[in-house]
Amino acid sequence: MCEQDNRFQTMGQQFQRRSWAEPWKIKMVEPIEMRTREQRAQAIKDAGYNTFLLRSEDVYIDLLTDSGTSAMSDRQWSAMMMGDEAYAGSRNYYELEATVQEYYTYKYFVPTHQGRGAEHMISQAVIKKGQYVPGNMYFTTTRLHQEMAGGIFVDVIIDEAHNTISDHPFKGNVCLDKLTALIKDKGAENIAYVSIAGTVNMAGGQPMSMKNVKDLRALCDQYNIKLYLDATRMAENAFFIQEREEGYANVSIKDILKEFCSYTDAAWMSSKKDHLVNIGGWLAVNDEALFEKLRNMVVIYEGLHTYGGMAGRDMAALAQGIRECVNEDHMASRIGQVRYLGSLLENWDIPIVKPIGGHAIFLDAKAFYPHIPQDQFPAQTLAAELYLDSGVRCMERGNVSAGRDPVTGNHRFPKLELARLTIPRRVYTQAHMDVVGEAIKACFDNRNNTKGLKMVYEPEYLRFFQARFESL
Ligand SMILES: *Cc1c(COP(=O)(O)O)cnc(C)c1O
Repeated sequence: MCEQDNRFQTMGQQFQRRSWAEPWKIKMVEPIEMRTREQRAQAIKDAGYNTFLLRSEDVYIDLLTDSGTSAMSDRQWSAMMMGDEAYAGSRNYYELEATVQEYYTYKYFVPTHQGRGAEHMISQAVIKKGQYVPGNMYFTTTRLHQEMAGGIFVDVIIDEAHNTISDHPFKGNVCLDKLTALIKDKGAENIAYVSIAGTVNMAGGQPMSMKNVKDLRALCDQYNIKLYLDATRMAENAFFIQEREEGYANVSIKDILKEFCSYTDAAWMSSKKDHLVNIGGWLAVNDEALFEKLRNMVVIYEGLHTYGGMAGRDMAALAQGIRECVNEDHMASRIGQVRYLGSLLENWDIPIVKPIGGHAIFLDAKAFYPHIPQDQFPAQTLAAELYLDSGVRCMERGNVSAGRDPVTGNHRFPKLELARLTIPRRVYTQAHMDVVGEAIKACFDNRNNTKGLKMVYEPEYLRFFQARFESL
């Protein structure tokens, strides 16, 4: 085992010796209730065995996504009361711009309604038809916007990322050999940009190292290629660098985040994740000409360049959320809660992606249901079974999410066939995690009696959101 992983173990042992608790107390509660088993069976059937189509009222513990589901702090709620709802030039816009510049280093800032608004604009602005876009695995909306702009996505993540049991500490890293080979093969002028993401979602929330981004910067400079960052969970990535990478143990999450961004040319952001708000996002770039272009596009697609689809109060809560997300105690408890759930499952030998990532636990559905072939959607099946057992909602990240190859029209059959339990920030307690762990254990104990699914409705784009299934 490598040195960094030993530190990770030591930390776990410290947690076992002395308990720790969330760095907040609860001021307002929202009641939740569990439906009966008959009601759950009807609800999941009515939803076409797709957890995205369940009504949230029918869900007991909602781990569908960490996107826009976080609890805001009293500081964020009070910031909302200070919203300046002017159509143009809102005070909250200037505050947000200054906050993004301070925490993320980029010179120019464009607000958007959420992450995909930013992805749409940057893809359309810079990708020429037929150009390649190498990235560290893909993200659904990111790749779709790159493809819709005429780009050809190429996965250049290290091989370990596709291996659920590899305990490499930075499984989000780009493989420099794969990237160099692609550049040499296609020619640097045919690469639109290198597209990297922090704590790579589809790989199981796995981080990139600072060394990797530095090396990438040098490689991109050598070939005069731009390096763009999906900063959606970059604050969480900074936590892993602090924990695992030599030389960063005593550097703050805030400073690690800044240093990482400083090696890249631009970033887009879904503030619904790290930034602890229910809606919002942005684009930020260092190139003035590109900024001019984006600022012109934003008025067509999102809203005026001083709100980009957000209300003034949304921008106020977002700016405060940026300040809170780099707080050391916040991040330790956020990731600590994910690890708590993961360690329960590990103790029962339930197959999960390792090491445990930043925002979610990923169940390895191929190992969970070895008797269900991938064209019968094992991860989709697992998500439906978990809801049926206990009202816990998670989501599929496998064959359904991967979609079809745009050229051949065939299913993509990704190596990773996962069910993702995503933990909203500051929403659930350790008791909720115990209930979730026991529910997964119940599904695991019943695994040999479980049958797969058949897809009966398939939308053209991002099919995982709306596809419908029947039980086999
Ligand atoms: C959620 C997400 C996006 C898209 O953002 P939205 O706010 O949902 O539009 C992009 N990249 C990553 C890594 C994400 O997790």
